[in-house]
Amino acid sequence: MQNEEQVLKYIENLIPDRSEAFKEIEQYAVEHDVPIMELVGIETLLQLLRMHQPKKILEIGTAIGYSALRMAEALPECKVVSVERDEQRHNKALANVETMNMSSQVFLIKGDALEVEHLVREHGPFDVLFIDAAKSQYRKFFDIYSKMLSPNGVIFTDNILFHGLVAEEKIESRNLRQLIRKIKEFNIWLMEHPDYHTAIMPVGDGLAISKKRG
Ligand code: SAH
Ligand code: MG
Repeated sequence: MQNEEQVLKYIENLIPDRSEAFKEIEQYAVEHDVPIMELVGIETLLQLLRMHQPKKILEIGTAIGYSALRMAEALPECKVVSVERDEQRHNKALANVETMNMSSQVFLIKGDALEVEHLVREHGPFDVLFIDAAKSQYRKFFDIYSKMLSPNGVIFTDNILFHGLVAEEKIESRNLRQLIRKIKEFNIWLMEHPDYHTAIMPVGDGLAISKKRG
């Protein structure tokens, strides 16, 4: 689109205001550089979830609990289990869940998602898996946790377009180049996965939606 930035602003301005509690978390994220989901991305995800009506969601990458709490609020009948390895963020997320009185719906696990499979499994199976953690590990998260999906399960994977860098021809930094290569490999692997239909939504930082084939 020609004026992509303006269109994005236009959509953002149309989105109704969140509650004070959520606006405070959004503000905290800006001030402390916490990469919570972008507004249009989370609103799109929430709408897809309202259509799917999951009873249990597994999130990989809690950060400070923003997306987990928003999903829980949008789906009052749904439980959200979320994993975070960073202690400070996990603690902040716990505090946010407490403040918003959501501890009956949101359960937080502190640990590296590559190591806490056994703890997570006790809460499964899950109707939705939402992967939003270290981009270099996406394939591993997908392989480990897609096994805990219920038969009608859907997998959402965030940040798969990485600020559009996946479509950039020349990247100077070597580290960045490697990460982008990993993301692109994951995207190809995911799109070719024989067990899933996947569509890529260019909202937020890029959201892949994978549905188990019948
Ligand atoms: N879903 C959140 C944002 C998550 S940001 C929201 O939109 O509100 C990504 C988070 O994943 C970071 O806080 C990071 O510490 C965490 N993370 C990265 N790799 C992880 C891993 N292997 N296990 C658990 N958490 C991880
Ligand atoms: Mg993200």
